[in-house]
Amino acid sequence: MTRSPKTMLTTPIAITSEQTEQLRQELLRTLSRLEGRIAKNGPGNGAAELDQTCVGRLSRIEALQNQGLTDGLRERERIQFEQVLDALCRLESGTYGTCVTCHTPVAFERLTVFPETPTCTPCGQ
Ligand SMILES: [Zn+2]
Repeated sequence: MTRSPKTMLTTPIAITSEQTEQLRQELLRTLSRLEGRIAKNGPGNGAAELDQTCVGRLSRIEALQNQGLTDGLRERERIQFEQVLDALCRLESGTYGTCVTCHTPVAFERLTVFPETPTCTPCGQ
């Protein structure tokens, strides 16, 4: 008896493992797409290979940053790319779907629109 009907009204429901898996697939698709675009825009440095470890992904970010991909759309793509990697890391560590700011569950509806978002709707606005 740990659930109170009162808190159910104000606290968003945490996403299920099935939904998490669905979002993980979406994040991986976004990651490949962004990686392809960044690799194409950057100085030819065949970055098509996906490193499946957290550490590998993060060092990939540093490598991309060091290549100086810093203008306009490219910058936005790089930021999204970072957020996607971060979301995948949070998936691996089991904290995905929880707002990094207020630590309440992020609504599934928000995650389907922004799978890479680290925050819930109130914190993200
Ligand atoms: Zn929040």
